[in-house]
Amino acid sequence: MHLINNKKLLSFMVSESDNSIAVNNPATGECIGYAPITSKDEILDAIERSKLAQQSWAEQPAKARSAVLQQWYQLLLDNQDDLARLMTLEQGKPLAEAKGEVMYGASFIQWFAEEAKRTYGETIPAPSGDKRLLTIRQPVGVTAAITPWNFPIAMITRKAAPALAAGCSMLIKPAEDTPLSAFAMAELAYEAGVPKDLLIIVLGKQAAEVGDIFTTHPTIRKLSFTGSTRVGRLLMQQSAGDVKRTSMELGGNAPFIVFDDADIDSAVAGAMVSKFRNAGQTCVCANRFYVHSKVYDAFVSKFDTAVRALKVGNGMQEGVNIGPVINQAAKNNIQSLVDKAIEQGAEPTSSIEELAGLYLQPVILKNVKHNMDIVSQEIFGPVAPVICFDTDEELIEMANDTIYGLASYFYSQNVHRVWKVAEALQYGMVGINDGIISTEVAPFGGVKQSGIGREGAKQGIDEYMDIKYLCFGGN
Ligand code: NAP
Repeated sequence: MHLINNKKLLSFMVSESDNSIAVNNPATGECIGYAPITSKDEILDAIERSKLAQQSWAEQPAKARSAVLQQWYQLLLDNQDDLARLMTLEQGKPLAEAKGEVMYGASFIQWFAEEAKRTYGETIPAPSGDKRLLTIRQPVGVTAAITPWNFPIAMITRKAAPALAAGCSMLIKPAEDTPLSAFAMAELAYEAGVPKDLLIIVLGKQAAEVGDIFTTHPTIRKLSFTGSTRVGRLLMQQSAGDVKRTSMELGGNAPFIVFDDADIDSAVAGAMVSKFRNAGQTCVCANRFYVHSKVYDAFVSKFDTAVRALKVGNGMQEGVNIGPVINQAAKNNIQSLVDKAIEQGAEPTSSIEELAGLYLQPVILKNVKHNMDIVSQEIFGPVAPVICFDTDEELIEMANDTIYGLASYFYSQNVHRVWKVAEALQYGMVGINDGIISTEVAPFGGVKQSGIGREGAKQGIDEYMDIKYLCFGGN
């Protein structure tokens, strides 16, 4: 770990033992360090400590909580390079993207440091003269989060920052593949003044064991999860027994639509960032491309030129655009979706080279049909299936023909079509002539089986607050 200058960031690290988990670099397969495993008893103890910490944190004025969050934000910025290197080592994304994620993750801390001071209540005109009605907003209490490996920092700050801003505590279980960034970030939170018992990282031996405790322990009043729809469903079922509040940021299957009146160069630029960022491993990644028959060949040809220029390799090397995928199971799954699509008639625009390790060559597939598995399933890799369409009606039907409803994108220069299509797409987010939609100032989240709740924006803090109605009689 000589690449990390601020050794304090690694102070959580432990040696190899039965109580530690080895974290491997997906670019090389080498072990880069060991993270501590939290036993069941330790998790139960952490929940009790978290309860006490939450009570005193909630008693502090919002301005004081805000100041601590501002300091945490500043420390992320000061340690941007170290955090980015650690992230690339454990997650594989190119260093420039990792630096971008540190900034993106930090932006949620800054945003919610500001929102902490604006958790206003309301006065309500009373139905009779002798009453006065109003609402106040209060923190939910002790909360928990389970996060994925594809954005090891941002998926945590989108939850922890609003929770702390609202006056909640949070226990966080990061993904087994990328726990180091989570622990390092928590070290910076403590340095900023976040009490150690207020924000606790727990890494159980088994994810399911931690999930079980988080969903059934009565002290935990809310669970926020980002990950697959399969696990999200399970956690919602488990939370039902206790009627626990949940926020779910789940899988996606984003359509990327190019109409015949689109600016093709701009659509190609949007397709590149939307599809190939993080080697195609983002929940808002374009998963399937629908291109109008009149511009199909022109779009595919320019898209192909741009994809051939992508450099695959170790994310620590200068100029690399596509790092490895996260693990062998992910690589196998992506390859089998591509093989099956080719068997069913899809055509790659260039011959597919077998790459060693966890690397995959980016691929565009032409002549894809809407009913292929590669269209209905989340690919989560650098593969772009392109489907041809003729009418807006058939396009809308195909675009909405999925259980998912997270992100969608379309390119058109026709203002009437823009409004019609934007309203017809059954998605929580629509990028119009834009391939990058995520920002801390806008509400991120899905409809249908892509989830419940919103992260970021003014709505993000509502997920961690209860509304209490006060009725004053006898006036
Ligand atoms: P995953 O398998 O659902 O894992 C996500 C997290 O859940 C990990 O921390 C994992 O722990 C944990 N987990 C797994 N099984 C569990 C169980 N039975 N009980 C409790 N926790 C459990 O998802 P993934 O494949 O790693 O991540 C990719 C998925 O996340 C994709 O579907 C993607 O679209 C989605 N995602 C959604 C958003 C969004 O904002 N909507 C953002 C990013 C990713 P271990 O790592 O220890 O197994």
